[in-house]
Amino acid sequence: MLLDTHAHSDFSMDASYPLETMLQEALRKGLSVFTITDHFDPDYPNPLGEGEIFTMDSGPYLQEVLRLKEKYRGQIELLFGVELGLQPHVAEELRAWVQGLPLDFVIGSSHIVDGRDPYLPGFFDDRSEHDGYRDYFRTFLPNLAVYSDLSVYGHLDYVVRYGPNKDADYRPQDFFEILEPSLARMIELGIGVELNTAGWAKGLNMPHPHPDILKRYRELGGEIVTIGSDAHLPERIAYGFDRAKDLLRDLGFRYFTYFRERKPVFLPL
Ligand SMILES: [Zn+2]
Ligand SMILES: [Zn+2]
Repeated sequence: MLLDTHAHSDFSMDASYPLETMLQEALRKGLSVFTITDHFDPDYPNPLGEGEIFTMDSGPYLQEVLRLKEKYRGQIELLFGVELGLQPHVAEELRAWVQGLPLDFVIGSSHIVDGRDPYLPGFFDDRSEHDGYRDYFRTFLPNLAVYSDLSVYGHLDYVVRYGPNKDADYRPQDFFEILEPSLARMIELGIGVELNTAGWAKGLNMPHPHPDILKRYRELGGEIVTIGSDAHLPERIAYGFDRAKDLLRDLGFRYFTYFRERKPVFLPL
């Protein structure tokens, strides 16, 4: 069974393909389930000054999902998700946006560290790679402290994509002092982790997070792992899906997961 639980359409500022185009490609690739998870990132730093650039109205998004869900019924199951950009001071906005929506799946992601996205230039100008990675990992617990109504935490070491040497010198163990309590808290809260294959797609030797982090999550008792491509382009849908399943199996997982109506569905690996 082929599926993808993390993808973007033109409801996201950084993607330009209509949801129907993404869904048609998912269907063409033989997916049974496709979860769209467009961005809702309040107070994302706007390089041009004031004003939201990474949020959207839930109304048109929901309407389009419902329309396509019906249109493609019996061919592919479209599930309704969102990727929330977590920051400690935006929790109320997240709650207000999610309120009353029939979401199947909610990814919470750290994109912003102290008002800056490692994806944008300048993040590493005034800190070492190690300190940049550390500062990123330090966002998890404060974010979870104010907002934990999540299915999974997304791409746990996203910052590594943008480090000066990316994953060449990256050893997750150097950060376990921060990562272990974060993973333990996710497990306590029933929040899964995402295996995000975009790391491979972007030329790293690892998905997000690094296999050692997935392994530690399992050792600490974590059982919920979703597989997502984070596709912003049709051709990236389900990228590395089989490789991801092989990796999870090698790490000792027996199941992977997707969510429908906010409930985990476990599939054997
Ligand atoms: Zn993200
Ligand atoms: Zn994403």
